[in-house]
Amino acid sequence: MAKIILNKSNYFHNLKTIETHLGSKDKIAVVLKDNAYGHGLVEIASMAKEYGIKKAVVRTINEAEKIETLFEQILILADTDIHSCSHTFHIAINSLEDIEKLPENTNVHIKFDSGMHRNGISLDKLEEAIHGILRKKLNLTGAFTHFRSADELSCELFWQKSNFDEAKNLIKTLCEKLFIPVPNFHCANSSALFRFKNYDYDFARVGIAQYGYLDTDSIFDNPTLKPVMSLWADKIVTRILKENQRVGYGGKYMAQEDMKISTYKVGYGDGFFRLNGEQKYLTPKGYEILGKVSMDNLSINCDDEEVCIFNDVRELAKIHNTITYEITTALKEHIPKEII
Ligand SMILES: *Cc1c(COP(=O)(O)O)cnc(C)c1O
Repeated sequence: MAKIILNKSNYFHNLKTIETHLGSKDKIAVVLKDNAYGHGLVEIASMAKEYGIKKAVVRTINEAEKIETLFEQILILADTDIHSCSHTFHIAINSLEDIEKLPENTNVHIKFDSGMHRNGISLDKLEEAIHGILRKKLNLTGAFTHFRSADELSCELFWQKSNFDEAKNLIKTLCEKLFIPVPNFHCANSSALFRFKNYDYDFARVGIAQYGYLDTDSIFDNPTLKPVMSLWADKIVTRILKENQRVGYGGKYMAQEDMKISTYKVGYGDGFFRLNGEQKYLTPKGYEILGKVSMDNLSINCDDEEVCIFNDVRELAKIHNTITYEITTALKEHIPKEII
């Protein structure tokens, strides 16, 4: 069986680092969408609660329901199919149409399009949105935006921030005029957060940094974070691969001399991306994954009963030409989690 081990002291170290930067635990909203980026939604949510975090962000109502009792506030980014109103849930409004779909009394956050042009309401539609929210008797509790290039060295982040500040002022003015409470404002994700020296919004939505990574240009003064997840697998069988024998699909790996190898119970069926035998990958103990990864198993040059496949995914992200987010998020929900 494959297994994910979650390191609580590393997790708390990351939360502490984020808290120190923000000045308060209350300014952290942990982003737990997509099974907490593959780490396990309930496991990470429970540790966040134990640390004292009060806000979370997820993608769907179904995810929010699983962690409802653990937080005071849960922002749901992309699901408007809500039937009962929970005080804990806050629904993101990504378009004017979303306003029409929601039942009375739902808490809502306006998503403002400050330049990413993916989801959100533009500046010239904000007034209409707020009137729609009042007409439908929804509670406006937040307004936020998302940055498209916080991880790159460019001034785009500051261009979007100034657009958001303009929206923030407009929303404040409208709320005062209409005698409704001014909502919370939030904008930064992990990489944006560490680029702002003084973050003067109500909270930040922190995803990848809590898990121990920041895919931000190394030019920035990035904090030291510690990966939370490690992936482990049990042995199936050990054999001797004789000189010139090959292992696995396509016989991609050939033994240069007689060697002891074993198969382990993890493969791309578990969401561990398929290594195709072209690039060498070593486990934390220095063992090599030999040849192509199969659906349910892979071969390694050792005979340990259990091996750690990774405890840091940055090398794998490089090999697969992707970001750390994708390597962890791809891991399937069925993999058991253990917190140490
Ligand atoms: C996923 C997501 C985040 C978190 O981003 P990180 O880079 O992982 O910190 C924040 N805000 C929104 C809207 C998101 O979709």
